Amino acid sequence: MCGIVGYVGNKQVVPLIIDGLRKLEYRGYDSAGIAVVNDGHNLEIRRAEGKLRNLEETIRLSPIDGTYGIGHTRWATHGRPTEENAHPHRDCTGRVVVVHNGIIENYIQLKERLRKTDHRFVTETDTEIIAHLIEEFLKQDQSFEQAVRSMVAELRGIFALSIINADEPDTIIAVRQGPPVVIGLGDREFFVASDIPPILQHTRDVFFLGDGELAIINKDAVRVIDFEGNPVQPAIQRITWDPIMAEKGGFKHFMLKEIYEQPRSVRDTVQGRISLDSGQVFLDEFSNITEADFKRFSSIKIAACGTSWHAGLAGKYMIEQLARVPVDVDYASEFRYRNPVMGEDDLLIFCW
Ligand code: GLU
Repeated sequence: MCGIVGYVGNKQVVPLIIDGLRKLEYRGYDSAGIAVVNDGHNLEIRRAEGKLRNLEETIRLSPIDGTYGIGHTRWATHGRPTEENAHPHRDCTGRVVVVHNGIIENYIQLKERLRKTDHRFVTETDTEIIAHLIEEFLKQDQSFEQAVRSMVAELRGIFALSIINADEPDTIIAVRQGPPVVIGLGDREFFVASDIPPILQHTRDVFFLGDGELAIINKDAVRVIDFEGNPVQPAIQRITWDPIMAEKGGFKHFMLKEIYEQPRSVRDTVQGRISLDSGQVFLDEFSNITEADFKRFSSIKIAACGTSWHAGLAGKYMIEQLARVPVDVDYASEFRYRNPVMGEDDLLIFCW
């Protein structure tokens, strides 16, 4: 699962967001990006494939600054992990930008509809349609807030979003339908993030956005409403953890935290991959292997070591039960030195 960090205030936003994204690195990612507005209205975006340090290098070569912005580490579900597909994503005007955690299940239908009204898409992601939908509603003279509400009414799936409209300065709209969104309340500065650690060194007063809610954040205040526009009173809490405790999520030991995190880790891993409505599985990285190819495989070998070997064993039980195809799990360290019996219709999966 990806990470989102946003900030509105008076501090320089770039180091703050990069530092925040680093604290979310544990969630895993394949690319990263940042959008910053400076001089009140210039919107600038930097993105990079791979590690966060690649994004830092991109920013070092082409600096940006500003006092509000949004950042993202991506864990691709739709579209390859490339710089073009890295968030933030823009509308046609380049004024509306969005970062997204989750999956939009009906993005293909929405994309087809928007293409008919001359929207141009430049990425392979499901996320990009969000910016274009907002653009469409802004064109109908809706306010930024209304346009975001109209947009969420069109989406099916799960999403945590942070959105900027460069024509509405010093404002971020955060949205939650599924993945967590935490809002940090500082002194004339506000934070939005996927988890508490990026916020904690700046403020200890936070609240979690509920499902079906959105927060309109600007320099002076945060207002929370539900998707129908009704006001919501957020349950603000003071976090008393020190930074080490925060890393441990309030647990006494990392081991205990990891034990309790198992349901979430499993949920986060599959969340962007399975449609809760249709049960459809999305494996974009394997788009070059067709369904017919998958059906042809008569046996599967999994080569792995250590923990991934144990994961392979769990995989063997599941695959055999679901697909009725025999699965062997081999030690990868041995596999490379022997002469395994492999046929044309065998699938070999390497795990690490
Ligand atoms: N579905 C989006 C994408 O593939 C967001 C993935 C994420 O949560 O990082 O870009």
